[in-house]
Amino acid sequence: MNNIYGITIEKLEDYFISLGSKKFHADQLFSWLYEKRINEYEEITNIKKELIEQISKDYSISKLKIVNVEKDVDVCKYLFELYDGEHIEAVLMRHDYGNSVCVSSQVGCNMGCKFCESGRRKKVRNLETYEMVLQLLMIEEELGKRISHVVVMGIGEPFDNYDNLINFLEIINHPKGMAIGARHITISTCGVIPKIKEFSNLGLQFNLAISLHAPNNEIRDKIMPINKVYPLDLLIPVLEEYYNNTSRRITFEYVLLEGINDGVEQAIELSNLVKNLNCYINLIPYNETNNLNFKRSSTIQIMKFYDILKKNKINVTIRKEFGGNISAACGQLRSKKEGV
Ligand code: SAH
Repeated sequence: MNNIYGITIEKLEDYFISLGSKKFHADQLFSWLYEKRINEYEEITNIKKELIEQISKDYSISKLKIVNVEKDVDVCKYLFELYDGEHIEAVLMRHDYGNSVCVSSQVGCNMGCKFCESGRRKKVRNLETYEMVLQLLMIEEELGKRISHVVVMGIGEPFDNYDNLINFLEIINHPKGMAIGARHITISTCGVIPKIKEFSNLGLQFNLAISLHAPNNEIRDKIMPINKVYPLDLLIPVLEEYYNNTSRRITFEYVLLEGINDGVEQAIELSNLVKNLNCYINLIPYNETNNLNFKRSSTIQIMKFYDILKKNKINVTIRKEFGGNISAACGQLRSKKEGV
């Protein structure tokens, strides 16, 4: 059965019309779900009983199960169990500017990035729209405070689950849904070009982050198999087009891996690669995992890399680290739970 938390307000309007009823019920239902936060349809007081009965036959209102929570000072990691016994993670981070949540988009991932814990384990399935929405809704309820920012950077490749991603964005961004501003929502992709183009053509104000991790095809090919299909010389022009369509600056994520992509030479090459793009670079200290052999660059090396980019007038930041003590590297909590 479909779940009500995966349905956009437009689709609900169509649904009510198809029942021979009025489309304003969609607004009412959204208000019960996302403002009043009901748990059961029986709590609804302003929609006719027969209609509520019909809705409950067509759409389940069940939530996910939170099976583990790991807490640290400014970070909290949630492990969810899905209807079929699969597990996914979401991470809440408390910043000075608000609460941000990193959500998962798939169970596992097929992109196979060599340094990534989620990629070590193949994709089992896409997440349904409601499974993405409920990660946010349930964390917000647990927290008792608003989530102000969302990053789609958990387990999975969001652009490999495009339609569900778009529905999810619509629901959490809609003023009558979770009402999180588009400029506060970031989608991170390893570079699935056809979907970046499709997304770009929508002309929306969401932030796009690209997992770059290498300044040239030679290194990128070795650590990110997607680069063999969509190499940098094809990716960069598509990002220029994205900026032209949306006027939104691209963010590049660059995980620093010792001896692989963190040398002076690569910093210079990276500066040249992006110098004509309106972008930010976010340098990410690698989160080492037990199952993979990559090493985090030393702090000195990270600073050297940062300084070279700065000198070349690139907008660059080093990502604040969260949750080193709580298995926060993508997919670690899931692997721990499942013992693989
Ligand atoms: N598939 C998407 C989003 C999920 S991964 C993407 O590739 O962008 C989110 C980010 O975390 C990516 O930049 C990914 O490369 C990075 N990442 C994966 N494993 C990591 C680790 N162990 N330490 C630091 N960053 C990691």
